[in-house]
Amino acid sequence: MTDPPARSRTLAAALGTLQSALDGVLSVVLAPGCAACGALLEQPTRGPICADCWRSILPLTPPLCRRCGDPLPAWRASDALAQECPRCRRKRPAIDRARAIGEYDGALRAIIHALKYEGRRSLARPLGRLMQQRCADILAGAACAIPVPLHASRRRHRGFNQAADLARHVGLPVCAALVRRRATATQTGLAAAQRHRNVRDAFGPTRAGRALRSAIVVLIDDVSTTGATLDACARVLKEAGVAEVRALTAAKAVTRPR
Ligand SMILES: [Zn+2]
Ligand SMILES: [Zn+2]
Repeated sequence: MTDPPARSRTLAAALGTLQSALDGVLSVVLAPGCAACGALLEQPTRGPICADCWRSILPLTPPLCRRCGDPLPAWRASDALAQECPRCRRKRPAIDRARAIGEYDGALRAIIHALKYEGRRSLARPLGRLMQQRCADILAGAACAIPVPLHASRRRHRGFNQAADLARHVGLPVCAALVRRRATATQTGLAAAQRHRNVRDAFGPTRAGRALRSAIVVLIDDVSTTGATLDACARVLKEAGVAEVRALTAAKAVTRPR
């Protein structure tokens, strides 16, 4: 008789063989393409993105603005006073610290598009895991993850909130602390100042949000462009008494230092 561990090893090996066989059949019969680059998927059971695309996502490398996460010119790195980018020094954001897996570009941009606009919700898990791995310092010591809410009408239209899907996979309890009170015009194509006006007063705290007094929390969203949405959310949370608001996004549109 085989002992239980040996039996489970045999089972795992059998399932592995089955998965490889299934990958072989699916890649020939369906010939599915990678949702980011279009290349033929050799292992379709591993998800809709090829291994090369996942590997090509580069992290944002230091020195980064300690507040918004934008790259800083290297020569400023040792100067304690200059560890914030010019934008954050001009107007201090309500977000205390922000990080992302990488720049909103290339494969990462294509993967987020597939999640958001093609309804590939299975991508939230590997993206959320990558956020957890690459930005562990932002999550350390935080009480919960708060997804940036969609307005009810947009959520109905899309069928899901990608930020809520991502928040479930970063390894923190999820708290629906915010509600979007009004539908805002899409931020795409708006300049930074217009974006801030567009989202002002768009968010409010839920009962759960008002119960987060003195907590450290992490806002979760798919992309940070100018940071206007995250900042509007952070202001609401701070007014509700939250001690520290950090932000973690899958990607960040980067302003390069000049
Ligand atoms: Zn690919
Ligand atoms: Zn900054």
